Amino acid sequence: MKQLRILVTGGAGFIGSHLCERLIADGHEVICLDNFFTGRRANVEHLMDHRRFELVRHDVTEPIMFEVDRIYNLACPASPVHYQYNPVKTVKTNVIGAINMLGLAKRVKARILQASTSEVYGDPMEHPQTESYWGNVNPIGLRSCYDEGKRVAETLVMDYHRQNRVDARIMRIFNTYGERMLEDDGRVVSNFIVQALHGRPLTIYGDGSQTRSFCYVSDLVEAMIRLMDCEAEDVHMPVNVGNPGEFTMLELAREVGLAAGVEVKIDHRELPADDPKQRRPDITRAKELLGWEPAVPLAEGLKRTVKYFRDLIDRPGSVTAQA
Ligand code: NAD
Ligand code: UDP
Repeated sequence: MKQLRILVTGGAGFIGSHLCERLIADGHEVICLDNFFTGRRANVEHLMDHRRFELVRHDVTEPIMFEVDRIYNLACPASPVHYQYNPVKTVKTNVIGAINMLGLAKRVKARILQASTSEVYGDPMEHPQTESYWGNVNPIGLRSCYDEGKRVAETLVMDYHRQNRVDARIMRIFNTYGERMLEDDGRVVSNFIVQALHGRPLTIYGDGSQTRSFCYVSDLVEAMIRLMDCEAEDVHMPVNVGNPGEFTMLELAREVGLAAGVEVKIDHRELPADDPKQRRPDITRAKELLGWEPAVPLAEGLKRTVKYFRDLIDRPGSVTAQA
């Protein structure tokens, strides 16, 4: 395969670090760009000595110029706890960041993949969600900086494509989990695992009947590579990527208990505002376009993630989950 120069923004984050690792393994040259808001140098430490890997500290809200063939634009905090910490900054990262990266793609004629989210469907009235569904999003709520930010990013991708012929792709990522999530990330899988390993009750927000569909990170990265490589005519239209296995938070708590080998207790907390009641991807398009479907079932992915957190917690100086 031809060696390409690839820019990964948000490359020191959870998904980005796995993507960088895979691209290096595939023989490419990788520039990992990150402002280290939720990303960590430690996530890419093992790649630092590689001659085809470069780490650049930079904020995507500021323009930057690289001669690259491809851009994966992942920069943006993904956990509600982190994206709500500075919501104005989250909007800037999504909107100005997308403008900067699309502008770069236009200038150097790079192909670009924009990481979007299932959150563009909001609290969905259609279930499971297909790409043709326009969503049910509160434009002025606490999640809007992220949901609407990503929706504008999608708009920008389509306009740069139509107006400037930028070769762009949009991936709507559904809840993804795995090694290198932060211990204090605040998302449900890492919270539950860290709580279970500390012998604390699992914090379920609301009655725990809300559902999510959880995709293991290696499955997601495989789909990203395939979407970037895809040459199909309608590749510019959004693609859902996630695992269609759907679980209530109560079921997830049980699965985490099994994976961690502990009996879990539950601590019900208040449900955050605008928390979507259900979410499951229809992945027909990903199957047809990319020949992709997830390979790692929840029980297996959780086992691997539990092992990661167990090793991390056993290390001195570890922090504990948001709860
Ligand atoms: P993450 O928070 O671990 O990674 C995001 C990375 O972006 C971090 O390294 C962070 O430091 C960096 N970053 C944030 N703002 C930046 C800025 N202004 N400039 C440069 N770097 C910046 O989250 P993740 O789970 O790895 O998510 C990666 C991408 O995938 C995000 O765009 C997210 O919206 C999207 N996504 C993730 C999920 C999921 O379940 N993990 C679901 C849907 C969409
Ligand atoms: N959640 C929970 N306990 C936690 C963290 C989250 O019950 O400790 C719930 C949350 O209310 C939501 C679901 O788990 O219904 C998924 O939350 P997460 O933040 O992981 O992702 P998102 O809501 O963005 O899909």
